[in-house]
Amino acid sequence: ATPTAVMVGTGLGARRGVLFKNAIALETAARIEVVVVDKTGTLTKGEPEVTAVVTGSADSSVGEDELLRLAAAVERESEHPLAKAIVHHAEGRGLDAPRTQRFENVPGHGAIAEVDGHRVVVGNQRLLDREGIDAGAMTAGREQLAGGGQTAIMVAVDGVAAGVIGVADAVRDTSAAAVAGLHELGAEVVMLTGDNRATAHRIARQLGIDTVLAEVLPKDKAAQVAALQRDGRRVAMVGDGVNDAPALAQADLGIAIGAGTDVAIETADVVLMRSDPLGVPAALRIGRGTLRKMR
Ligand code: ADP
Ligand code: MG
Repeated sequence: ATPTAVMVGTGLGARRGVLFKNAIALETAARIEVVVVDKTGTLTKGEPEVTAVVTGSADSSVGEDELLRLAAAVERESEHPLAKAIVHHAEGRGLDAPRTQRFENVPGHGAIAEVDGHRVVVGNQRLLDREGIDAGAMTAGREQLAGGGQTAIMVAVDGVAAGVIGVADAVRDTSAAAVAGLHELGAEVVMLTGDNRATAHRIARQLGIDTVLAEVLPKDKAAQVAALQRDGRRVAMVGDGVNDAPALAQADLGIAIGAGTDVAIETADVVLMRSDPLGVPAALRIGRGTLRKMR
């Protein structure tokens, strides 16, 4: 790379809030063919809010407030953004979450703890399956929430499914335009998420994303990126770093959302200072422009 071309490219990026860490990042950006994008916190704002509470499973008599109180007690111990949404909502309703014992965080699944002597399981269908809890009575509620693009969080008390909490995370205003911009550049866009298939597909459809890798465990995200690289394609990964720092490192080009975690910003080759997904097609375009000037 000629120093001048690199300086021009870096300057163009800076003006758009796209920070290239080095010259190699600029050159790699020019050659990207596949862009893998994390859903939560990247395509969405990462500020999930509780929008629905469904109780009334035939097997359980736990009411709405009691369900939220128990779920919030467990989630108070968790760092997960979904957990924070539930705790915040319970506080908003003036519910006091009791103390818990034997808290267990289950990455990519949810959390479990003892509350007032009851064993409370809070998480996705996979967690209930793992715990051997029959959630058949909550299937309709879960499917309705997921079909609307919400994340359905199941709550079970003493082994019995008691309700579902719907959490919605609004998509960023520019996510659809960013996907369209990447398609114009001929890049394939892939959504990578730990969220359930129905929710992920609903949001992907809304944004015009063609390929969805859903229900991917945090520890498997980097392997999914590696699989896409296997046939020699150059892959960029865009993420906020909650769960996806190893995938950012695995990608040919790691792109971190500026509002993301410190580890993401450190791991990435490119940082989007304005946390705007439009920075991704901009980065690829600037890379291509830089490469053209070098020839
Ligand atoms: P993402 O890829 O969206 O960052 P994660 O891998 O962290 O998601 O989690 C995947 C799924 O596991 C979530 O969509 C949710 O259904 C469930 N989950 C994980 N942690 C929690 C939690 N603390 N409470 C409830 N559900 C959780
Ligand atoms: Mg995430």
